[in-house]
Amino acid sequence: MPKIKVNENLFGFHPSTQGEFLFQHIAKQFIPSEAKSQVYQLSHLQIGNRQDDLAEYYIGVYCFNLMARLIKKAVHLIEDYSLNQEQQQPKMKRYLQTQMEIAIDRQNKEAINKLISLSLSAALSTRKQVNPSTKLLVTPKYKPIYCYICDRKLELLTEDITTQVQYEHIWPRNFGGDSTAENLLPACALCNHAKGSTLLWQDAHVHSFVLSPSPTAEDLNKGIQYKMKIAMHRRNIFRRACDDQITLKEAALKVGAMGKSIKHKHPDDAVDFFNCTI
Ligand SMILES: [Zn+2]
Repeated sequence: MPKIKVNENLFGFHPSTQGEFLFQHIAKQFIPSEAKSQVYQLSHLQIGNRQDDLAEYYIGVYCFNLMARLIKKAVHLIEDYSLNQEQQQPKMKRYLQTQMEIAIDRQNKEAINKLISLSLSAALSTRKQVNPSTKLLVTPKYKPIYCYICDRKLELLTEDITTQVQYEHIWPRNFGGDSTAENLLPACALCNHAKGSTLLWQDAHVHSFVLSPSPTAEDLNKGIQYKMKIAMHRRNIFRRACDDQITLKEAALKVGAMGKSIKHKHPDDAVDFFNCTI
């Protein structure tokens, strides 16, 4: 039986936006370390040699689902102009109890209140646009600008959509990513569009390709969509941020743009998302 590796650093990156604070609160509060190690030991994951990857996948999907639903509910309440601020909190509480089946007691009261206030703050962050002074901080004038995902050279003043600078929210705005310099990096239109609201690598359809062992360069290019390459790059960024306990932006700058080619780690094994890197 393969040795069980529990990733203690999972989601231990340094948060900088409201959405990240909410996500980490969920990851800590709803999947404490003992529960995490139980996921890594699930018996049905023990065949296939993808146990730690699939455990990480499962935990990511679970936290994402809770976070996304809380933010969508909070946005819905904020946009209901018949409610004042004081009425939003109890409505969120009721949502937790009825739809999420979270029992609220004396022990978790504080954590629940924090969950509610973080959800409402993250919901407010989804509405904030990037202002011109923030853009200037992200792309100072007279400094060369490159897409942080594909390394394409970009221009501030151009009509050419392929080289125009776009401001990419590293933690997507839809999920409480603030429009601050700490959460923005320049990206080209192609990468910005392909990344879209992808938050975690777990959001990508990682099961959507399985190639033969030792694939040719053509197999790799044709068999793996661009979105999937962005997910691999994102996995590298998250891992670096969690290992070094830094922000996702700092990690993105350390990791650099994604490489031009995909490498597979075990040549005898079929090439799936977990058996390759970029
Ligand atoms: Zn790009």
